Amino acid sequence: MKTIGIDIGATKTVIASLDNGGEPYAFRKVPSAALLTSKGNAVDSIYAFLMDYLNVEAIDKDTLKGIGIGVPAVLDSNTQEIVSCPNLPGLDRLALGTLLSPKINLPVLVENDVNLIALGEHSFGRGKGIDNLACIFVGSGLGCGLILRGELYTGADGAAAEFGHTIFDPEGKICGCGAQGCIEMYCSGRSLTLAAPEILGETETAGKNLGAEFGRWSLARKVIEAAHAGNSKAIDAMNTSFYHLGLAITNLVNILNPRLIILGGGIVSGWPNGLQVVRETVNTRARTVVRDRLEIDISMLGDKAGLYGAARLVELTTDK
Ligand SMILES: [Zn+2]
Repeated sequence: MKTIGIDIGATKTVIASLDNGGEPYAFRKVPSAALLTSKGNAVDSIYAFLMDYLNVEAIDKDTLKGIGIGVPAVLDSNTQEIVSCPNLPGLDRLALGTLLSPKINLPVLVENDVNLIALGEHSFGRGKGIDNLACIFVGSGLGCGLILRGELYTGADGAAAEFGHTIFDPEGKICGCGAQGCIEMYCSGRSLTLAAPEILGETETAGKNLGAEFGRWSLARKVIEAAHAGNSKAIDAMNTSFYHLGLAITNLVNILNPRLIILGGGIVSGWPNGLQVVRETVNTRARTVVRDRLEIDISMLGDKAGLYGAARLVELTTDK
């Protein structure tokens, strides 16, 4: 039996068919805007997208175990609703799995995207065989997924691991979540976008609406390019971002004592030196017992980790 994994991102959505840990096949990438065409009726448009995919790839629905979907949002496990999905308002307050499942007549499991990345890396990637780990993905925002005692940990209400919204500076920048000084505002594509006018100069960023640039990455990418080209302000901004991330990870490892931290996402792959900055920060600041056997490494499955996790979630749920 196969599963279908879908990873709905703020800008891009990927879909693939998976077969018990094998390489995802019939892999497709589409703009999320194309997927969520009918505003106000995301369930219908995702259903249409899915049926079209199955038809084009000649996948028989009867050979499927279920569908796993990752979303860039917090979920409420009590109501199965997607809550707080600022990047894709069409999904907000939507019980996507509950509504989509009877339409397609298959189990549909929906989970936070970085939770699925953690599940994918734990089942088939860098975290295989490691029972306590955290995945931290630095993209537009700062996401986290936890595997504790060998299982995905989602908390009492499904909303655990909101690491990006742990408070880093109580007098600091206002975050998209409404709180002040969340770590996401100090290490993410969003924070680099906000810093871009200062780093690159006003002429590079003139006419850009910084708020609208958050999901588009153009300014964060420019800062990374400037750092690689030797711009000292940009290099400082990148290394300082990862130093801040290292401090926040120090707090996380002191609380949870994981064996492994897996870093990933566009900001991490864009600035490979960041891994070393995080390692040095944690290794000089975390409690000795916590850091001695701790490994901090890079994601192995890259942008397919969420798809592996989506398939794994379906298997875990339907095999029960
Ligand atoms: Zn926040």
